[in-house]
Amino acid sequence: MRVIFLGPQGVGKGTQAALLGARFGIPALSTGEMLRSEVKRKTEIGQKADAIMKRGDLVPDDVMLALIRSRLSEADARSGFILDGFPRTPAQAEGLDGTLAHFDTQLNAVVLFKAPREVLLARLSGRRTCPKCGANYNLETHPPKAQGVCDHDGTRLVHRADDTPEAINHRLELYERQTAPLAEYYRKRGQLREIDGTRPIDAVQQALVDALDSQRQAPSTVGAHRTPQGSGSA
Ligand code: ADP
Repeated sequence: MRVIFLGPQGVGKGTQAALLGARFGIPALSTGEMLRSEVKRKTEIGQKADAIMKRGDLVPDDVMLALIRSRLSEADARSGFILDGFPRTPAQAEGLDGTLAHFDTQLNAVVLFKAPREVLLARLSGRRTCPKCGANYNLETHPPKAQGVCDHDGTRLVHRADDTPEAINHRLELYERQTAPLAEYYRKRGQLREIDGTRPIDAVQQALVDALDSQRQAPSTVGAHRTPQGSGSA
């Protein structure tokens, strides 16, 4: 199963990707997590990305494409993956098509998670993240079992450096401008599935599994230009 998760910040992509990855035994690849790990390790990419990420801007497409190409060539991604946070621009989507064609493989589905802006803003301001495993919590709606520490590894949770009101607003604007149009790109290929991200975590996961099941029974897959344009459902 090869899936892209599209949707604005705070809609629950990371949470759903972790659950779906565990269910299918495939890696959930968050480009945000990958970049935060580069920053932490002070690699060349990390040093460049740090300030960009704190502002809520996008890391350049060529850097992202190189990062994703290298990650997708690792053994654990051969039988499937979930991409969370990539692609985010038309150039990244086209680059990904080229990478998949190079690996002679195709996407099975692109899932668009949706929620109104008020919900996203409330979730992002209450978001706390585990710096070790990347698990996300929310102080209001999805608190950790023990206050302030991760359920999985006991690490102290953090409020991400880019979850300030300014950076959140900036990221949501960039999403609308650069990433939201990608839904149309994939919809034209007939593989976009839309999910209501406002429901409880379990309900969203069930809707996701149902959507992917119906997608698997559909005859075509999202190849690089393999499905006829405009043949898809809305
Ligand atoms: P969010 O979805 O809340 O913005 P992420 O963890 O997905 O959080 O991403 C954090 C930051 O990492 C982004 O604001 C951006 O700076 C950078 N980033 C992640 N993925 C990409 C990408 N595909 N292209 C460019 N920058 C990215």
